[in-house]
Amino acid sequence: MADHTHEHDHDHARTFAPDEETKLGYYGLAEIAVRELLIEKGLFAPEEFRMGWERFDTNGPAMGAKVVARAWTDPAFKERLLRDGSAAVREFGVDMGLIHLYAVENTADVHNVIVCTLCSCYPKPLLGPPPDWYKSRDYRSRVVRWPRQVLREFGTAVADDVQVRVHDSTADLRYLVLPERPAATTGWSAAELEGLITRDALIGVARIAPPPTHGATE
Ligand code: FE
Repeated sequence: MADHTHEHDHDHARTFAPDEETKLGYYGLAEIAVRELLIEKGLFAPEEFRMGWERFDTNGPAMGAKVVARAWTDPAFKERLLRDGSAAVREFGVDMGLIHLYAVENTADVHNVIVCTLCSCYPKPLLGPPPDWYKSRDYRSRVVRWPRQVLREFGTAVADDVQVRVHDSTADLRYLVLPERPAATTGWSAAELEGLITRDALIGVARIAPPPTHGATE
């Protein structure tokens, strides 16, 4: 919209209040009240708000995949990522604000998985919005107590001699799993590797599946 001088006509239907049966908590109500007030004051238009959410909602794990593919192909970057995740992802234009990002590396001996036991803290600038299961009480409470079992439920078996580390995210602390690069990707470019990297592997509930071989020999 080029012209923002239109009148505000108090058409509250435009802000899409949730269905009546949806229970709104304190923060849900506060968000709607503040949003409607800011729109009424003309600080932003409803369509700008919508566009912001569209960007957020359709933002997937692509940035996380880019960061990991770079770490797999650039040892110096990997070192920077493991040392100071927030600073390293800034090289990709990702601003974590005041949040500390820790990249945790999966190896032959260690498997990492992330959770937020308190709520749903998640490295959103890298992975987009969290999946529903990540926010569920079921996942949050069980993965810290029985991580191997929960991982098995995701189809990820972790051998007994591999240590499982569960990382609890907080308001100012986020984790990104740096998965193991599959064998048989020798010589692949970062762009090619990105295509193999899935959201769940970056959360740590899955591994990166080996690439299809197409019957070719390498
Ligand atoms: Fe949280």
